[in-house]
Amino acid sequence: MDLLNLDDRLTDDQRLVRDTAQGFVRDSVLPEVATWFEEGTFPARELGPVLGSLGMLGMHLNGYGCAGLDAVSYGVACRELEAGDSGLRSFVSVQGSLAMFPIWKYGSAELKEEWLPGMAAGTTIGCFGLTEPDHGSDPANMKTFAKQDPSGDWILNGSKMWITNGSVADVAVVWAQTDEGIRGFVVPTSSPGFSAPLIHRKLSLRASVTSSLYFDDVRVPASAVLDVVGLRGPLSCLSEARYGILWGVVGAGRACFEAALEYSKTRVQFGKPIAGFQLTQEKLAWMAVALGQAGLTALHLGDLKDAGTLRPQQVSFGKLANVRAALDVAREARSVLGANGVTLEYPVIRHMNNLESVLTYEGTQEIHTLVLGEALTGVAAYR
Ligand SMILES: Cc1cc2nc3c(=O)[nH]c(=O)nc-3n(C[C@H](O)[C@H](O)[C@H](O)COP(=O)(O)OP(=O)(O)OC[C@H]3O[C@@H](n4cnc5c(N)ncnc54)[C@H](O)[C@@H]3O)c2cc1C
Repeated sequence: MDLLNLDDRLTDDQRLVRDTAQGFVRDSVLPEVATWFEEGTFPARELGPVLGSLGMLGMHLNGYGCAGLDAVSYGVACRELEAGDSGLRSFVSVQGSLAMFPIWKYGSAELKEEWLPGMAAGTTIGCFGLTEPDHGSDPANMKTFAKQDPSGDWILNGSKMWITNGSVADVAVVWAQTDEGIRGFVVPTSSPGFSAPLIHRKLSLRASVTSSLYFDDVRVPASAVLDVVGLRGPLSCLSEARYGILWGVVGAGRACFEAALEYSKTRVQFGKPIAGFQLTQEKLAWMAVALGQAGLTALHLGDLKDAGTLRPQQVSFGKLANVRAALDVAREARSVLGANGVTLEYPVIRHMNNLESVLTYEGTQEIHTLVLGEALTGVAAYR
């Protein structure tokens, strides 16, 4: 079904990562994920250590128990995990790229030793708090504030919203205004004054924990602050995570395509399988082309990342193009399944609903369009 044979370009090690992630999804995720989605749960405590033992957490980082693999391997893993469910890939992205990466990149030696080995093992869960109820696409205006008191401790006040893993996390990387600009703080969730209630009634990414975070005079030591000032801190983490997304959604789209292809061969109407109708073949061919193009984009950007030349605008290109392609594929696949396309008996509507969140988080399609517009014209049009 990979008409371009893109996976022929993977090395043996990258294929091993692919097969490991695929096996995990097949054996431990697909039998359960429709139930998790229906019940609105994600077994983070059970899956975390398994993902850790497979080297999937902080996979592209070096040291501290991380696998230290190349960017294409990390991308392929995201693709296979998201073929299971975008909630699963979100868990892995948030843990590795949004919680571990800032500690790894900007944390002190003590912070790294304290948190990273447990996070790589999946026994310690992290979350990333940037978005606030009133500040999503425009985080520079965030209201959460951290002030240093005479003892040197930092005191945090404010709130965050839509935080993946929030209620199950042991540690939160929290971005806050300070007198010198936006700074990141590594906050144990057991800190007095910290709370993380679940957000209920989501109809997308249901197999994923999403929470609010509240900080009521939360005190952390001076050593908890990350060594980066300004929005470039959180944006550098988002660039890492968006890279995983642009691979991941190819997996979600592929799962929808495969379900539609299989269904079309067995569903008989007007005396023959619907795969035999030209209109169905047009849909299948278009889906294969869209996914092939998305896969090619991901592989190319992976090569750039491994070469150390990947620019944020290129990540925006991939996130914008690939999420949109995957969502269009999911919607088209849904139509091939007819009424069966709206039930959890098939994976398609679950992926389709998930991809609505993926389109929005980590920079909406409008924001990534503006990033590309600025790259092309030299004119920023955000405000
Ligand atoms: C399931 C889920 C999980 C999430 N997990 C996390 C997480 O772990 N951590 C975290 O920090 N955040 C997380 N988010 C939040 C996510 O990143 C934000 O929802 C996203 O950045 C958009 O912010 P917003 O929802 O406030 O939308 P808004 O910023 O209010 O945007 C609303 C609409 O206006 C458009 N818009 C905004 N500004 C412009 C402009 N200048 N020009 C044109 N259009 C514009 C947007 O594109 C969008 O269409 C998550 C969200 C979801 C749904």
